[in-house]
Amino acid sequence: MLQIKHLNVNFGEKQVLKDINLNINKAEVVALIGPSGSGKSTLLRCLNFLVNPTSGEISIDNITVDAKKATKKDIFKLRQKTAMIFQNYNLFKNMTAIENIMEPMITVQKISKNKAESIATDLLKKVGLLNNKDSYPSEMSGGQQQRVGIARAMAVNSDVILFDEPTSSLDPELVGDVLEVIKNLAMEGQKTMLIVTHEMKFAKDIADKIIFLENGIISFEGTSYEVFQECKNQRVSNFVNKMT
Ligand code: ATP
Ligand code: MG
Repeated sequence: MLQIKHLNVNFGEKQVLKDINLNINKAEVVALIGPSGSGKSTLLRCLNFLVNPTSGEISIDNITVDAKKATKKDIFKLRQKTAMIFQNYNLFKNMTAIENIMEPMITVQKISKNKAESIATDLLKKVGLLNNKDSYPSEMSGGQQQRVGIARAMAVNSDVILFDEPTSSLDPELVGDVLEVIKNLAMEGQKTMLIVTHEMKFAKDIADKIIFLENGIISFEGTSYEVFQECKNQRVSNFVNKMT
């Protein structure tokens, strides 16, 4: 359901992604790992054109966009298929938790306020934050804010959720709750999820497929077992062992 063909990204002289090809099935959970600067965030950001690829093709469901001919309308359609969760939560500071979750439902999906409120309430329950429904971001911990961010991404009915190191700016004791919420979402088996993470145990537990990116190239692709138990690639094996 998600397909990347011959994707290249240049920043000036520097080629950051080199002929990336990737197929992800519906409801598959994919972990994207690799050293710092290898191009993980760039790859994720190409999927919704937060980064404009130099060339290549991106398909999600029935929408196919050729990077060289992408129109605003194409990009808009692609963005409707995806939700993204960033490292730094990106909540609206002047809105409460529930308002943050309701906002895209009302403005993008044109859902009525009452309906949006009821969906948002259910989602807050799901991420364990019903008691914080009227809290502003400044009144919540990083982990709580991130869980609101995840609830917001769940609220818009996108098929694909993109996570870029969702726990890397959290205090260690807050990481577990956020990973738990993501894990539960993965277990529901509804959404296609692409997760950039340095949390190896989490990747091992949750991912159907693990992709290792290095110097802008997918140098290894395998199941959790093929990466963590019987890895035939020494470089990948060293990397994951060093990280755990
Ligand atoms: P990290 O694990 O540190 O987040 P990453 O794998 O996500 O790293 P990217 O952020 O995708 O790496 O960056 C890949 C390369 O592209 C890096 O060398 C980075 O400096 C460069 N880069 C990223 N964004 C830009 C930009 N907007 N302009 C120029 N160079 C960029
Ligand atoms: Mg990154």
